[in-house]
Amino acid sequence: ILVDGKHVCECNACYRGPDCSEFVQGCAADAESGDPLFLEPYWRQHAASSAVVVAGWHRMSYQTDGDYFISIELERHIRKLHSHVGNAITDGRFIIFGAGSTQLINAAVHALSPNSTVSSPASVVASVPYYMVYRTQTEFFNSRAYEWKGVTSKWVDKLNSSAPNFIEFVTSPNNPDGRMQQPILPGSSVIYDHAYYWPHFSAIKAPADGDLMLFTISKLTGHAGSRFGWAIVKDEGVYKRMLTYLGINTMGVSRDTQLRSLKLLKAVLGEERGAAGSIFEFAFRTMRERWHKLNKLVSSSDRFSLQQTRPEYCNYFGKIRDPSPAYAWLKCEREEDKNCYAVLRAGGIISRSGYKFGADGRYTRLSLIRSQDDFDLLIRRMDALITKEKARN
Ligand code: PMP
Repeated sequence: ILVDGKHVCECNACYRGPDCSEFVQGCAADAESGDPLFLEPYWRQHAASSAVVVAGWHRMSYQTDGDYFISIELERHIRKLHSHVGNAITDGRFIIFGAGSTQLINAAVHALSPNSTVSSPASVVASVPYYMVYRTQTEFFNSRAYEWKGVTSKWVDKLNSSAPNFIEFVTSPNNPDGRMQQPILPGSSVIYDHAYYWPHFSAIKAPADGDLMLFTISKLTGHAGSRFGWAIVKDEGVYKRMLTYLGINTMGVSRDTQLRSLKLLKAVLGEERGAAGSIFEFAFRTMRERWHKLNKLVSSSDRFSLQQTRPEYCNYFGKIRDPSPAYAWLKCEREEDKNCYAVLRAGGIISRSGYKFGADGRYTRLSLIRSQDDFDLLIRRMDALITKEKARN
């Protein structure tokens, strides 16, 4: 950052001093949020090829080259990217942009709900452990058209055959536990959240083919602050209802954000000069290394366990690849450790409690996608916790 015209380091919260090398004693490791700063070193290496300069007169208008406030070039690059990675089918589908996929979550719920007030509201459900925003948005926007109805599995036995007025969130790979998921209610409308279906975090098995799929640049390039996501939609009616939502809500996504996203996708696709070095290789290697370290450490302890993972064949890399999930879904195994979040907090680690995913407090989530400093400190604190435990036994 610039201070009085000089460049100074922006230190991680646990470090200070002119070169950020002084550790703040007792500082807790922050593994709470999914801030994807693990990708910052990649973009530092590709600073010039990813930079965007926007003159004051440029892109002032509400209008864009495409209809509905979207950049045709950006849409084209999104399709190209999916076909390059092989993670989603876009042919014959509509694409819609949102201010992060966060904005598209409720746009999708709105679009799949009945549009007549005489029909009963759609029931919105997700499988535990689920990303809490599905619930908070559905409850907060408090529409007559839909209602939060909790855990999907609860409805499987209650409904005899089909669940036509249900909207089921299917997060695949799942946040927090990385599981690949499928819908479980026959006849439901499904919102597939594929935020983590990139070679960074998951084997790419086949192009995703859902009727309504959400993606975000936040977990692809790491530019969470740009607030850019997109939906791939099969049905034109659903697409139009999402467009209406976006039109009324924000009149589309910031044109500056679209410009930056285009530049980033061009860099990802190797179209920019000097953009050599695949982001997918970098991201995968970083995440694999982090998972390997944490897994090894946790395996040496009886007190904690992690989700089961195994190597899988990835079409994108064309080989069997090791696991590299975005999050660790940690379980406290001891009977007395009912609040796993609190156990870690006492050991100087800030995690996100299982309660926040509709799950048991015996579970807690550790984010592995934050900065290297955050991850290194997490390992240091986890190591201390496990070593102390072993000494006591
Ligand atoms: N879906 C899932 C499963 C997520 O984990 C996140 C971000 N943590 C989002 C959607 C929202 O991402 P964004 O709004 O940054 O695009």
